[in-house]
Amino acid sequence: MIEEKGILFVLSGPSGVGKGTVRKALFEKDTALQYSISMTTRAMREGEEEGVDYFYRSKEDFEKMIEDNQLLEHAQYVGNYYGTPRTYVEETLDKGNDVFLEIEVQGALQVKKNFPEGVFIFLSPPSLEELKNRIVSRGTETETLVMNRLKAAKDEIELMDNYDYVVVNDQVDRAVEKVQAIVKSEHCKKERV
Ligand code: 5GP
Repeated sequence: MIEEKGILFVLSGPSGVGKGTVRKALFEKDTALQYSISMTTRAMREGEEEGVDYFYRSKEDFEKMIEDNQLLEHAQYVGNYYGTPRTYVEETLDKGNDVFLEIEVQGALQVKKNFPEGVFIFLSPPSLEELKNRIVSRGTETETLVMNRLKAAKDEIELMDNYDYVVVNDQVDRAVEKVQAIVKSEHCKKERV
């Protein structure tokens, strides 16, 4: 069986849908995927670590990386920059390993332009009502912010057609199983003797 380059998997979807939770649960089960750790200018949260959750950088350093074309994609989200380091992704794929990105929708669309052969997975809420409940229950947002996020989510959901797969996140375990099935199925597509 000859498999050459690794496969790039991109998990994306609206804010509040549970991308981070699904990604973490997936990585507890799947050790073959390589998670690409993003760069961000946002402050480190309690319990997070440099080089594990993110690479935390100043705005100046981040803008320099954009200028030097070191990022595969980048986006601004709630006043901070987020981006995917290009070299890690390219080198890992070249070594024949799969790379997994968990990023917001604008970034995913940029990756699709550069890597049309990537596998794009849209994590969707069961309904907008459910998404609203999830955003509200985080308890960190004012009513205006909740409405803004929902509006953004509606716009993002309209971009769903750009993706190869849609996974409804009704239950984390079920969503993880579906993502694992996608990974397996994509490998079967590439298997050659
Ligand atoms: P948080 O600040 O809650 O960790 O992440 C905020 C949002 O940024 C989430 O939707 C997450 O998926 C997204 N994100 C994380 N890393 C990246 C990245 O490298 N690029 C883009 N475009 N979005 C990212």
